[in-house]
Amino acid sequence: MNLHDSEKMLGVLQKEGYCETDNPLRADLIIFNTCSIRQKAEQKFYSELGRMKEYKKRKPGLKIAVAGCIAQQEGKNIFKKAPHIDFIFGPQNIHFLTDLVSGRITPVAVNDNPDIALRDLPVKREDGIKAWITIMYGCNNFCSYCIVPYTRGRERSRPSENIYAEVSALAENGYKEITLLGQNVNSYKSDIDFPGLLKKLNGIGGIERIRFVTSHPKDLSDGLIHAISELPKICEHIHLPIQSGSSKILNLMNRGYTCDDYMKKVSELRKKIPDLSITSDIIAGFPGETDDDHMLTIKVLKEIEFDGIFAFKFSPRSRTKAAEMQNQVPENIKSVRLHEILQLQDEITVIKNKHLEGTVQEILIEGNSETDSEKLTGRARSNKIVNIPMADIEKGKSVKVEITKGRKHSLEGIPVKE
Ligand code: SAM
Ligand code: SF4
Repeated sequence: MNLHDSEKMLGVLQKEGYCETDNPLRADLIIFNTCSIRQKAEQKFYSELGRMKEYKKRKPGLKIAVAGCIAQQEGKNIFKKAPHIDFIFGPQNIHFLTDLVSGRITPVAVNDNPDIALRDLPVKREDGIKAWITIMYGCNNFCSYCIVPYTRGRERSRPSENIYAEVSALAENGYKEITLLGQNVNSYKSDIDFPGLLKKLNGIGGIERIRFVTSHPKDLSDGLIHAISELPKICEHIHLPIQSGSSKILNLMNRGYTCDDYMKKVSELRKKIPDLSITSDIIAGFPGETDDDHMLTIKVLKEIEFDGIFAFKFSPRSRTKAAEMQNQVPENIKSVRLHEILQLQDEITVIKNKHLEGTVQEILIEGNSETDSEKLTGRARSNKIVNIPMADIEKGKSVKVEITKGRKHSLEGIPVKE
């Protein structure tokens, strides 16, 4: 979502005549688009920000801005920590960027923007084949650990006509794959609901693949399961964060489902879409998590066998309920639990990927592999990375590939004749 916000900032600035540079020493404007989901991201930002003083000394006309969720959270307090900053704007205020750069408005834009879903911004995309599209902003869920509802505001869905027009324009420009973005896409609601939106977008010629992130287990409806199984362009992959295998912890997290509810949704999904790839998020060491709770998470990982997970140590975020909870888990225990979770998942991922050896998968070619100059890379519909021997195949082409090797982070394969 942050990367896509950066594409919007680039889109707005391009209209003003700005272009991008890889070299910060040449820049007239540097924007930090920050994330505050965990403390580590915040720390990284503040250490980078300190270095900017030197840049400003070298080039006094340089403007430095802070955007994203730290900007939203801290507002003008950032000026106290870093007086060399020129302006600050939150994720709901990207439309003010031009006015902020030119100094036409005061240098702090962090107000709630109720019209965000109605005001479309220009987007500068690099890829040419795959594109992100925001379908909704904000979040209403208030999971007890999460800063997002405080930084990105209330849930607001874009009108389906606007999304349809954006995707149609992308298709006309040769894009093949779209990923619909929202904190909880299942609760998309404008003139139509989320399965209705998928159906509408599935009809756009030229687009071959449709993905979406993130799905919330409590809102995963039969209608959505049906849409994934019936609509040919919807890829067989769902990112469905479970967060914990303990229903006690899920309740403390305010997730709105039990572990049992989650398992039932997974079995329903697998029944209707047998080759579905399922990935998830886990938080290790949430306040009050005992060894037994942790073991329930280990158990659920073994039972479900996700294709992959993102796992994080619980990070207390100010304003959230979980930050104030008693029984915070010591850092060393969080680290041990995270390590166990990641190690187990690595083993599961390798086994699952090895099972794919000998199968034929449709790969959308993304270009040369960054790690191996002898290979082309692309993704299967499951979202798994697949590398194939270098061949004269254009970026954006779909090819059928037989999987020859399943590894931890990717698959190897060879194209098959059709
Ligand atoms: N809206 C999505 C959802 O509910 O699944 C995900 C949003 S969040 C940006 C991505 C992931 O970050 C979450 O699924 C959660 O696992 C993790 N996360 C959020 N807040 C966290 C915190 N305070 N500490 C550790 N991990 C956190
Ligand atoms: Fe955060 Fe929960 Fe909203 Fe996801 S659903 S963004 S974890 S509050």
